[in-house]
Amino acid sequence: MGMPSSTATLATPDVIAKYEPVIGLEVHVQLATRTKIFCGCPTSFGAPPNTNVCPVCLGQPGALPVLNRQAVEMAVEAALALNCHVKPRSVFARKNYFYPDLPKGYQISQYDQPLAERGYMDVDIAGVKKRLGVTRVHLEDDAGKSIHEGFKDSDRYTYVDLNRCGVPLIEIVSEPDMRSSDEAYAYLTELKQVLQYVEVSTCDMEKGHLRCDANVSVRRRGAEKFGTKAEVKNLNSFRFLKMALDHEIARQVAVIESGGRVMQETRLFDMDTGETVGMRSKEHAHDYRYFPEPDLVPLRVSDVWIERIRGSMAELPAARRARFIERYGLREYDAQVLTSTRAMGDYFEKVAAVSGDARAAANWVMGDLAALLKQEGKDIAESPVTPENLGRLVALIVHGKISGKLAKEIFPKMFVMSDAPEAIMEREGLAQISDEGVLARIVDEVIAANASQAEQYRGGKTAVLGFLIPAGRSIRRRRTGC
Ligand code: ADP
Ligand code: ZN
Ligand code: MG
Repeated sequence: MGMPSSTATLATPDVIAKYEPVIGLEVHVQLATRTKIFCGCPTSFGAPPNTNVCPVCLGQPGALPVLNRQAVEMAVEAALALNCHVKPRSVFARKNYFYPDLPKGYQISQYDQPLAERGYMDVDIAGVKKRLGVTRVHLEDDAGKSIHEGFKDSDRYTYVDLNRCGVPLIEIVSEPDMRSSDEAYAYLTELKQVLQYVEVSTCDMEKGHLRCDANVSVRRRGAEKFGTKAEVKNLNSFRFLKMALDHEIARQVAVIESGGRVMQETRLFDMDTGETVGMRSKEHAHDYRYFPEPDLVPLRVSDVWIERIRGSMAELPAARRARFIERYGLREYDAQVLTSTRAMGDYFEKVAAVSGDARAAANWVMGDLAALLKQEGKDIAESPVTPENLGRLVALIVHGKISGKLAKEIFPKMFVMSDAPEAIMEREGLAQISDEGVLARIVDEVIAANASQAEQYRGGKTAVLGFLIPAGRSIRRRRTGC
Protein backbone atom coordinates (compact mmCIF):
# COMPACT_ATOMS: atom_id res chain seq x y z
CA MET A 1 0.00 0.00 0.00
CA GLY A 2 3.05 2.25 0.08
CA MET A 3 1.63 4.51 2.79
CA PRO A 4 4.14 5.90 5.29
CA SER A 5 2.19 4.48 8.22
CA SER A 6 2.56 0.95 6.87
CA THR A 7 6.22 0.93 7.87
CA ALA A 8 5.65 1.86 11.49
CA THR A 9 8.50 1.23 13.90
CA LEU A 10 7.80 -1.73 16.15
CA ALA A 11 9.03 -2.22 19.69
CA THR A 12 11.20 -5.25 20.43
CA PRO A 13 9.90 -8.10 22.64
CA ASP A 14 11.92 -7.01 25.72
CA VAL A 15 10.44 -3.51 25.54
CA ILE A 16 6.93 -4.86 24.84
CA ALA A 17 7.28 -7.00 27.97
CA LYS A 18 7.27 -3.80 30.07
CA TYR A 19 3.71 -3.15 28.88
CA GLU A 20 0.40 -4.88 29.30
CA PRO A 21 -1.99 -5.06 26.35
CA VAL A 22 -5.71 -4.54 26.96
CA ILE A 23 -8.07 -5.97 24.38
CA GLY A 24 -11.83 -5.95 23.83
CA LEU A 25 -13.57 -7.57 20.88
CA GLU A 26 -16.67 -6.58 18.96
CA VAL A 27 -17.99 -9.54 17.02
CA HIS A 28 -20.77 -9.54 14.43
CA VAL A 29 -22.46 -12.84 13.80
CA GLN A 30 -24.98 -13.64 11.09
CA LEU A 31 -27.96 -15.54 12.47
CA ALA A 32 -28.92 -18.69 10.59
CA THR A 33 -32.50 -17.67 9.85
CA ARG A 34 -34.07 -18.56 6.51
CA THR A 35 -35.36 -15.02 5.97
CA LYS A 36 -34.17 -11.51 6.77
CA ILE A 37 -34.74 -9.70 10.05
CA PHE A 38 -37.44 -7.22 8.95
CA CYS A 39 -38.84 -8.72 5.71
CA GLY A 40 -39.46 -12.10 4.08
CA CYS A 41 -36.52 -12.03 1.64
CA PRO A 42 -34.29 -15.14 1.75
CA THR A 43 -30.87 -14.92 3.37
CA SER A 44 -29.34 -17.50 1.01
CA PHE A 45 -25.67 -16.98 0.20
CA GLY A 46 -24.50 -16.74 -3.39
CA ALA A 47 -27.79 -15.71 -5.07
CA PRO A 48 -27.41 -13.52 -8.18
CA PRO A 49 -26.71 -9.91 -7.09
CA ASN A 50 -29.71 -7.79 -6.10
CA THR A 51 -32.28 -10.57 -6.36
CA ASN A 52 -32.98 -11.21 -2.65
CA VAL A 53 -34.46 -7.75 -2.15
CA CYS A 54 -37.80 -6.00 -1.57
CA PRO A 55 -39.03 -2.48 -0.72
CA VAL A 56 -38.42 -3.07 3.01
CA CYS A 57 -34.76 -4.10 2.83
CA LEU A 58 -34.13 -1.57 0.06
CA GLY A 59 -35.45 1.14 2.38
CA GLN A 60 -38.06 2.47 -0.01
CA PRO A 61 -40.36 5.14 1.38
CA GLY A 62 -43.47 3.81 3.09
CA ALA A 63 -42.18 0.26 3.52
CA LEU A 64 -42.45 -0.94 7.11
CA PRO A 65 -40.26 -3.44 8.96
CA VAL A 66 -41.75 -6.47 10.72
CA LEU A 67 -39.46 -8.20 13.22
CA ASN A 68 -38.56 -11.84 12.48
CA ARG A 69 -39.50 -13.95 15.52
CA GLN A 70 -36.88 -16.59 14.78
CA ALA A 71 -34.11 -13.98 14.74
CA VAL A 72 -35.18 -12.90 18.23
CA GLU A 73 -35.23 -16.50 19.48
CA MET A 74 -31.75 -17.13 18.10
CA ALA A 75 -30.41 -13.91 19.61
CA VAL A 76 -31.91 -14.87 22.99
CA GLU A 77 -30.38 -18.32 22.65
CA ALA A 78 -26.95 -16.81 21.94
CA ALA A 79 -27.32 -14.42 24.87
CA LEU A 80 -28.25 -17.25 27.25
CA ALA A 81 -25.36 -19.36 25.98
CA LEU A 82 -23.08 -16.42 26.86
CA ASN A 83 -24.56 -16.24 30.38
CA CYS A 84 -26.15 -12.83 29.72
CA HIS A 85 -29.19 -11.31 31.37
CA VAL A 86 -31.87 -11.01 28.72
CA LYS A 87 -33.83 -7.83 29.26
CA PRO A 88 -37.62 -8.00 29.31
CA ARG A 89 -37.73 -4.88 27.16
CA SER A 90 -35.25 -3.65 24.59
CA VAL A 91 -35.43 -0.91 21.98
CA PHE A 92 -34.39 -0.69 18.34
CA ALA A 93 -32.57 2.44 17.26
CA ARG A 94 -31.53 4.02 14.00
CA LYS A 95 -27.81 4.43 13.48
CA ASN A 96 -27.51 6.99 10.72
CA TYR A 97 -24.72 7.09 8.19
CA PHE A 98 -24.33 7.41 4.45
CA TYR A 99 -22.74 4.72 2.39
CA PRO A 100 -23.65 3.29 -1.02
CA ASP A 101 -24.32 -0.19 0.40
CA LEU A 102 -26.88 1.20 2.87
CA PRO A 103 -29.93 2.32 0.87
CA LYS A 104 -32.05 3.13 3.95
CA GLY A 105 -29.47 5.68 5.07
CA TYR A 106 -29.47 4.11 8.51
CA GLN A 107 -28.89 0.75 10.14
CA ILE A 108 -31.53 -0.61 12.50
CA SER A 109 -29.62 -1.59 15.62
CA GLN A 110 -30.00 -1.41 19.38
CA TYR A 111 -28.24 1.29 21.34
CA ASP A 112 -28.78 2.19 24.97
CA GLN A 113 -31.30 -0.58 25.57
CA PRO A 114 -29.83 -3.77 24.10
CA LEU A 115 -31.42 -7.20 24.15
CA ALA A 116 -28.99 -8.64 26.69
CA GLU A 117 -26.05 -7.63 28.88
CA ARG A 118 -23.61 -8.69 31.63
CA GLY A 119 -22.58 -12.12 30.42
CA TYR A 120 -19.29 -14.03 30.43
CA MET A 121 -17.42 -17.03 29.10
CA ASP A 122 -14.98 -19.22 30.99
CA VAL A 123 -12.06 -19.73 28.68
CA ASP A 124 -9.09 -22.04 28.91
CA ILE A 125 -5.89 -20.17 28.11
CA ALA A 126 -2.94 -22.56 27.91
CA GLY A 127 -4.34 -24.61 30.77
CA VAL A 128 -5.37 -21.65 32.92
CA LYS A 129 -9.06 -20.85 33.31
CA LYS A 130 -10.10 -17.23 32.99
CA ARG A 131 -13.53 -15.61 33.02
CA LEU A 132 -13.96 -13.07 30.22
CA GLY A 133 -16.84 -10.61 30.38
CA VAL A 134 -19.46 -10.09 27.69
CA THR A 135 -20.77 -6.53 27.91
CA ARG A 136 -23.80 -6.88 25.68
CA VAL A 137 -25.56 -8.74 22.88
CA HIS A 138 -27.83 -6.80 20.56
CA LEU A 139 -29.77 -7.35 17.34
CA GLU A 140 -29.25 -5.39 14.13
CA ASP A 141 -29.54 -5.64 10.36
CA ASP A 142 -26.65 -6.02 7.94
CA ALA A 143 -25.72 -3.67 5.10
CA GLY A 144 -25.12 -4.63 1.47
CA LYS A 145 -21.77 -5.18 -0.14
CA SER A 146 -19.70 -2.80 -2.27
CA ILE A 147 -17.60 -4.56 -4.85
CA HIS A 148 -14.50 -2.62 -5.80
CA GLU A 149 -12.82 -5.13 -8.08
CA GLY A 150 -13.42 -7.95 -10.50
CA PHE A 151 -15.27 -6.03 -13.22
CA LYS A 152 -13.92 -4.78 -16.56
CA ASP A 153 -14.58 -1.20 -15.51
CA SER A 154 -13.69 -1.60 -11.84
CA ASP A 155 -11.13 1.17 -12.25
CA ARG A 156 -14.01 3.61 -12.73
CA TYR A 157 -17.01 2.05 -11.00
CA THR A 158 -17.92 0.43 -7.73
CA TYR A 159 -20.66 -2.18 -7.95
CA VAL A 160 -23.13 -2.82 -5.17
CA ASP A 161 -24.97 -6.00 -4.20
CA LEU A 162 -27.85 -5.41 -1.79
CA ASN A 163 -28.73 -9.07 -1.14
CA ARG A 164 -27.16 -8.85 2.32
CA CYS A 165 -29.20 -5.76 3.32
CA GLY A 166 -31.43 -6.74 6.21
CA VAL A 167 -29.77 -10.05 6.99
CA PRO A 168 -30.02 -10.54 10.78
CA LEU A 169 -26.93 -10.03 12.89
CA ILE A 170 -26.11 -10.04 16.54
CA GLU A 171 -23.27 -7.90 17.81
CA ILE A 172 -21.44 -9.30 20.82
CA VAL A 173 -19.29 -6.76 22.66
CA SER A 174 -16.74 -7.98 25.17
CA GLU A 175 -15.39 -6.27 28.24
CA PRO A 176 -11.76 -5.10 27.89
CA ASP A 177 -10.69 -8.27 29.73
CA MET A 178 -8.11 -9.82 27.41
CA ARG A 179 -4.43 -9.27 28.15
CA SER A 180 -2.72 -10.84 25.14
CA SER A 181 -3.38 -11.82 21.55
CA ASP A 182 -3.58 -15.44 22.75
CA GLU A 183 -6.38 -14.56 25.15
CA ALA A 184 -8.27 -12.78 22.36
CA TYR A 185 -7.76 -15.84 20.17
CA ALA A 186 -9.07 -18.11 22.93
CA TYR A 187 -12.10 -15.86 23.48
CA LEU A 188 -13.02 -15.90 19.79
CA THR A 189 -12.48 -19.67 19.59
CA GLU A 190 -14.79 -20.30 22.54
CA LEU A 191 -17.37 -17.81 21.25
CA LYS A 192 -17.48 -19.47 17.85
CA GLN A 193 -17.78 -22.91 19.42
CA VAL A 194 -20.62 -21.86 21.71
CA LEU A 195 -22.59 -20.23 18.88
CA GLN A 196 -22.12 -23.25 16.65
CA TYR A 197 -23.24 -25.58 19.43
CA VAL A 198 -26.54 -23.76 19.89
CA GLU A 199 -26.79 -23.54 16.09
CA VAL A 200 -27.60 -19.85 15.89
CA SER A 201 -24.91 -19.36 13.24
CA THR A 202 -22.58 -21.34 11.04
CA CYS A 203 -19.88 -18.79 12.03
CA ASP A 204 -18.31 -19.35 8.62
CA MET A 205 -15.67 -16.59 8.52
CA GLU A 206 -15.03 -17.06 4.82
CA LYS A 207 -18.64 -16.19 4.09
CA GLY A 208 -18.53 -13.28 6.52
CA HIS A 209 -20.89 -14.99 8.97
CA LEU A 210 -18.51 -14.08 11.78
CA ARG A 211 -16.67 -10.74 11.68
CA CYS A 212 -14.41 -9.42 14.35
CA ASP A 213 -13.11 -5.96 15.24
CA ALA A 214 -10.48 -5.65 17.94
CA ASN A 215 -9.99 -2.75 20.35
CA VAL A 216 -6.44 -2.56 21.66
CA SER A 217 -4.51 -0.39 24.05
CA VAL A 218 -1.34 -0.82 26.09
CA ARG A 219 -0.32 0.42 29.54
CA ARG A 220 2.86 0.16 31.60
CA ARG A 221 2.76 -2.99 33.70
CA GLY A 222 1.41 -2.07 37.10
CA ALA A 223 -0.47 0.99 35.81
CA GLU A 224 -4.14 1.14 36.67
CA LYS A 225 -5.48 3.41 33.99
CA PHE A 226 -6.16 2.01 30.52
CA GLY A 227 -4.28 3.54 27.63
CA THR A 228 -5.93 5.08 24.58
CA LYS A 229 -7.32 2.39 22.32
CA ALA A 230 -7.25 1.88 18.59
CA GLU A 231 -9.91 -0.18 16.85
CA VAL A 232 -8.57 -2.64 14.27
CA LYS A 233 -10.93 -3.76 11.52
CA ASN A 234 -10.85 -6.30 8.71
CA LEU A 235 -9.85 -9.34 10.73
CA ASN A 236 -11.41 -12.12 8.74
CA SER A 237 -9.56 -15.08 10.17
CA PHE A 238 -8.28 -16.22 13.55
CA ARG A 239 -4.73 -16.03 12.30
CA PHE A 240 -5.20 -12.44 11.14
CA LEU A 241 -6.69 -11.50 14.51
CA LYS A 242 -3.54 -12.67 16.27
CA MET A 243 -1.20 -11.15 13.69
CA ALA A 244 -3.00 -7.80 13.75
CA LEU A 245 -3.03 -7.64 17.56
CA ASP A 246 0.66 -8.49 17.87
CA HIS A 247 1.53 -5.88 15.30
CA GLU A 248 -0.69 -3.23 16.85
CA ILE A 249 0.66 -3.89 20.36
CA ALA A 250 4.26 -3.55 19.12
CA ARG A 251 3.36 -0.37 17.24
CA GLN A 252 1.65 1.30 20.20
CA VAL A 253 4.51 0.47 22.55
CA ALA A 254 6.97 1.97 20.05
CA VAL A 255 4.87 5.16 19.82
CA ILE A 256 4.83 5.57 23.61
CA GLU A 257 8.51 4.64 24.03
CA SER A 258 9.49 7.32 21.51
CA GLY A 259 7.62 9.90 23.55
CA GLY A 260 4.50 9.97 21.38
CA ARG A 261 0.85 9.48 22.16
CA VAL A 262 -1.40 6.71 20.81
CA MET A 263 -4.23 8.22 18.82
CA GLN A 264 -7.81 7.09 19.23
CA GLU A 265 -8.49 5.89 15.72
CA THR A 266 -9.80 3.15 13.49
CA ARG A 267 -7.10 1.10 11.81
CA LEU A 268 -7.32 -1.41 9.00
CA PHE A 269 -5.42 -4.70 8.99
CA ASP A 270 -3.56 -5.24 5.72
CA MET A 271 -3.29 -8.98 5.17
CA ASP A 272 -0.55 -8.59 2.57
CA THR A 273 1.86 -6.79 4.90
CA GLY A 274 0.57 -8.10 8.22
CA GLU A 275 0.39 -4.50 9.48
CA THR A 276 -2.34 -2.20 10.72
CA VAL A 277 -2.80 1.06 8.84
CA GLY A 278 -4.51 4.24 10.08
CA MET A 279 -7.92 4.71 8.45
CA ARG A 280 -9.75 7.50 10.20
CA SER A 281 -9.39 9.24 13.50
CA LYS A 282 -12.17 8.87 15.99
CA GLU A 283 -12.01 12.55 16.99
CA HIS A 284 -14.02 13.87 14.07
CA ALA A 285 -15.43 10.45 13.34
CA HIS A 286 -18.92 9.29 13.79
CA ASP A 287 -21.87 11.06 15.06
CA TYR A 288 -24.42 8.45 14.22
CA ARG A 289 -27.33 10.55 15.51
CA TYR A 290 -28.88 7.50 17.17
CA PHE A 291 -32.59 7.76 17.88
CA PRO A 292 -35.31 5.19 18.67
CA GLU A 293 -36.66 3.44 15.57
CA PRO A 294 -40.17 4.89 15.16
CA ASP A 295 -41.40 2.03 12.95
CA LEU A 296 -40.83 -0.71 15.54
CA VAL A 297 -42.36 -1.11 18.99
CA PRO A 298 -40.03 -2.01 21.86
CA LEU A 299 -39.12 -5.69 21.88
CA ARG A 300 -40.62 -7.55 24.82
CA VAL A 301 -39.24 -10.94 25.81
CA SER A 302 -41.23 -12.62 28.59
CA ASP A 303 -39.75 -14.90 31.24
CA VAL A 304 -41.88 -17.74 29.94
CA TRP A 305 -40.43 -17.29 26.47
CA ILE A 306 -36.88 -17.12 27.80
CA GLU A 307 -37.36 -20.30 29.83
CA ARG A 308 -38.86 -22.10 26.86
CA ILE A 309 -35.84 -21.16 24.77
CA ARG A 310 -33.47 -22.17 27.56
CA GLY A 311 -35.22 -25.52 27.87
CA SER A 312 -34.75 -26.32 24.19
CA MET A 313 -31.07 -25.38 24.05
CA ALA A 314 -28.33 -27.87 23.30
CA GLU A 315 -25.75 -28.73 25.94
CA LEU A 316 -22.95 -26.17 25.80
CA PRO A 317 -19.31 -27.09 25.11
CA ALA A 318 -18.08 -26.36 28.65
CA ALA A 319 -20.80 -28.52 30.21
CA ARG A 320 -20.14 -31.26 27.73
CA ARG A 321 -16.39 -31.21 28.41
CA ALA A 322 -17.04 -31.54 32.13
CA ARG A 323 -19.50 -34.38 31.54
CA PHE A 324 -17.08 -36.27 29.27
CA ILE A 325 -14.38 -36.09 31.95
CA GLU A 326 -16.73 -37.13 34.73
CA ARG A 327 -18.81 -39.77 32.98
CA TYR A 328 -16.28 -41.34 30.62
CA GLY A 329 -13.12 -40.78 32.62
CA LEU A 330 -11.48 -38.89 29.77
CA ARG A 331 -8.43 -36.70 30.15
CA GLU A 332 -9.02 -32.93 29.91
CA TYR A 333 -7.26 -32.73 26.57
CA ASP A 334 -9.25 -35.61 25.07
CA ALA A 335 -12.49 -34.10 26.32
CA GLN A 336 -11.52 -30.84 24.66
CA VAL A 337 -10.79 -32.45 21.31
CA LEU A 338 -13.91 -34.62 21.41
CA THR A 339 -16.19 -31.66 22.14
CA SER A 340 -14.62 -29.33 19.61
CA THR A 341 -17.77 -29.64 17.51
CA ARG A 342 -21.20 -30.95 18.33
CA ALA A 343 -20.94 -33.54 15.54
CA MET A 344 -17.65 -34.83 16.95
CA GLY A 345 -19.11 -35.16 20.46
CA ASP A 346 -22.22 -36.94 19.15
CA TYR A 347 -20.07 -39.33 17.12
CA PHE A 348 -17.85 -40.17 20.07
CA GLU A 349 -20.80 -40.79 22.38
CA LYS A 350 -22.29 -43.30 19.94
CA VAL A 351 -19.00 -45.16 19.57
CA ALA A 352 -18.65 -45.23 23.35
CA ALA A 353 -22.19 -46.54 23.81
CA VAL A 354 -21.94 -49.27 21.15
CA SER A 355 -18.47 -50.43 22.20
CA GLY A 356 -19.02 -50.17 25.93
CA ASP A 357 -15.50 -48.80 26.37
CA ALA A 358 -15.28 -45.01 26.28
CA ARG A 359 -11.50 -44.72 26.60
CA ALA A 360 -10.94 -47.12 23.71
CA ALA A 361 -13.65 -45.30 21.74
CA ALA A 362 -11.89 -41.98 22.38
CA ASN A 363 -8.57 -43.38 21.18
CA TRP A 364 -10.08 -44.67 17.96
CA VAL A 365 -12.01 -41.48 17.19
CA MET A 366 -9.03 -39.22 17.91
CA GLY A 367 -6.48 -41.60 16.40
CA ASP A 368 -7.22 -43.80 13.39
CA LEU A 369 -10.50 -42.14 12.42
CA ALA A 370 -9.19 -38.57 12.72
CA ALA A 371 -6.10 -39.47 10.70
CA LEU A 372 -8.06 -40.96 7.81
CA LEU A 373 -10.60 -38.13 7.82
CA LYS A 374 -7.78 -35.62 7.69
CA GLN A 375 -6.08 -37.50 4.89
CA GLU A 376 -9.31 -37.51 2.87
CA GLY A 377 -10.16 -33.91 3.77
CA LYS A 378 -13.44 -35.01 5.27
CA ASP A 379 -15.45 -33.69 8.18
CA ILE A 380 -16.61 -36.14 10.85
CA ALA A 381 -20.18 -35.63 9.67
CA GLU A 382 -19.10 -37.13 6.33
CA SER A 383 -17.25 -40.08 7.83
CA PRO A 384 -17.70 -43.22 5.70
CA VAL A 385 -17.41 -45.23 8.92
CA THR A 386 -20.60 -44.84 10.92
CA PRO A 387 -20.22 -44.51 14.70
CA GLU A 388 -22.18 -47.78 15.05
CA ASN A 389 -19.66 -49.66 12.93
CA LEU A 390 -16.66 -48.15 14.69
CA GLY A 391 -18.33 -49.02 17.98
CA ARG A 392 -18.65 -52.65 16.87
CA LEU A 393 -15.02 -52.78 15.85
CA VAL A 394 -13.96 -51.44 19.24
CA ALA A 395 -16.28 -53.95 20.94
CA LEU A 396 -14.63 -56.81 19.03
CA ILE A 397 -11.25 -55.73 20.39
CA VAL A 398 -12.54 -55.13 23.90
CA HIS A 399 -14.12 -58.59 24.02
CA GLY A 400 -10.93 -60.21 22.76
CA LYS A 401 -12.53 -61.37 19.51
CA ILE A 402 -9.82 -59.69 17.45
CA SER A 403 -6.43 -58.24 18.25
CA GLY A 404 -5.67 -54.54 18.06
CA LYS A 405 -3.32 -55.34 15.22
CA LEU A 406 -6.04 -57.01 13.20
CA ALA A 407 -8.42 -54.14 13.97
CA LYS A 408 -5.93 -51.74 12.42
CA GLU A 409 -6.04 -53.82 9.24
CA ILE A 410 -9.82 -53.95 9.17
CA PHE A 411 -10.45 -50.28 9.90
CA PRO A 412 -9.08 -48.72 6.68
CA LYS A 413 -11.21 -51.22 4.73
CA MET A 414 -14.27 -50.10 6.68
CA PHE A 415 -13.35 -46.56 5.72
CA VAL A 416 -13.17 -47.39 2.02
CA MET A 417 -16.20 -49.67 1.87
CA SER A 418 -18.44 -48.12 4.53
CA ASP A 419 -19.04 -51.60 5.87
CA ALA A 420 -19.51 -53.25 9.24
CA PRO A 421 -16.32 -54.83 10.62
CA GLU A 422 -17.91 -58.32 10.62
CA ALA A 423 -18.76 -57.96 6.91
CA ILE A 424 -15.16 -57.03 6.07
CA MET A 425 -13.78 -59.92 8.16
CA GLU A 426 -16.15 -62.35 6.49
CA ARG A 427 -15.33 -61.18 3.01
CA GLU A 428 -11.58 -60.98 3.51
CA GLY A 429 -11.33 -64.05 5.72
CA LEU A 430 -9.75 -61.97 8.44
CA ALA A 431 -11.30 -63.83 11.34
CA GLN A 432 -8.97 -64.34 14.24
CA ILE A 433 -9.19 -67.65 16.07
CA SER A 434 -9.48 -67.05 19.75
CA ASP A 435 -11.23 -70.29 20.64
CA GLU A 436 -8.73 -71.98 22.93
CA GLY A 437 -9.76 -75.50 21.88
CA VAL A 438 -9.11 -74.74 18.23
CA LEU A 439 -5.77 -73.11 19.03
CA ALA A 440 -4.65 -76.09 21.15
CA ARG A 441 -5.42 -78.49 18.33
CA ILE A 442 -3.34 -76.43 15.89
CA VAL A 443 -0.45 -76.38 18.36
CA ASP A 444 -0.64 -80.15 18.76
CA GLU A 445 -0.63 -80.60 15.02
CA VAL A 446 2.43 -78.37 14.56
CA ILE A 447 4.35 -80.23 17.25
CA ALA A 448 3.43 -83.61 15.80
CA ALA A 449 4.48 -82.59 12.30
CA ASN A 450 7.74 -81.02 13.46
CA ALA A 451 8.83 -83.31 16.23
CA SER A 452 12.58 -82.73 15.93
CA GLN A 453 12.26 -78.94 15.93
CA ALA A 454 9.95 -79.19 18.93
CA GLU A 455 12.58 -81.29 20.66
CA GLN A 456 15.28 -78.71 19.92
CA TYR A 457 13.04 -76.00 21.39
CA ARG A 458 12.55 -77.98 24.56
CA GLY A 459 16.32 -78.39 24.70
CA GLY A 460 16.66 -74.59 24.92
CA LYS A 461 17.07 -73.67 21.26
CA THR A 462 14.29 -71.07 21.33
CA ALA A 463 15.23 -69.70 17.93
CA VAL A 464 13.30 -72.53 16.24
CA LEU A 465 10.11 -70.72 17.25
CA GLY A 466 10.78 -68.69 14.14
CA PHE A 467 10.14 -71.91 12.23
CA LEU A 468 7.27 -73.30 14.30
CA ILE A 469 5.07 -70.21 14.31
CA PRO A 470 4.88 -69.86 10.50
CA ALA A 471 4.11 -73.58 10.38
CA GLY A 472 1.16 -73.01 12.69
CA ARG A 473 0.02 -70.10 10.62
CA SER A 474 -0.13 -72.18 7.48
CA ILE A 475 -2.28 -74.77 9.22
CA ARG A 476 -4.58 -72.05 10.38
CA ARG A 477 -4.76 -70.65 6.88
CA ARG A 478 -5.71 -74.05 5.48
CA ARG A 479 -8.45 -74.37 8.09
CA THR A 480 -9.98 -70.94 7.66
CA GLY A 481 -9.35 -70.69 3.94
CA CYS A 482 -7.23 -67.57 4.26
P1 ADP B 1 -16.52 3.12 21.93
O1 ADP B 1 -17.30 4.16 22.65
O2 ADP B 1 -15.30 3.64 21.26
O3 ADP B 1 -17.36 2.25 21.04
P2 ADP B 1 -16.70 1.25 24.07
O4 ADP B 1 -16.43 1.66 25.46
O5 ADP B 1 -18.10 1.08 23.65
O6 ADP B 1 -15.92 2.20 23.08
O7 ADP B 1 -15.94 -0.12 23.85
C1 ADP B 1 -15.88 -0.74 22.63
C2 ADP B 1 -14.97 -1.95 22.77
O8 ADP B 1 -13.66 -1.52 23.14
C3 ADP B 1 -15.38 -2.93 23.85
O9 ADP B 1 -15.14 -4.25 23.38
C4 ADP B 1 -14.46 -2.62 25.01
O10 ADP B 1 -14.19 -3.75 25.79
C5 ADP B 1 -13.21 -2.16 24.32
N1 ADP B 1 -12.42 -1.17 25.07
C6 ADP B 1 -12.87 -0.10 25.75
N2 ADP B 1 -11.84 0.59 26.26
C7 ADP B 1 -10.70 -0.04 25.90
C8 ADP B 1 -9.31 0.20 26.11
N3 ADP B 1 -8.85 1.25 26.78
N4 ADP B 1 -8.44 -0.68 25.57
C9 ADP B 1 -8.86 -1.74 24.87
N5 ADP B 1 -10.15 -2.01 24.63
C10 ADP B 1 -11.07 -1.17 25.14
ZN1 ZN C 1 -36.56 -7.68 1.73
MG1 MG D 1 -19.37 1.53 21.85
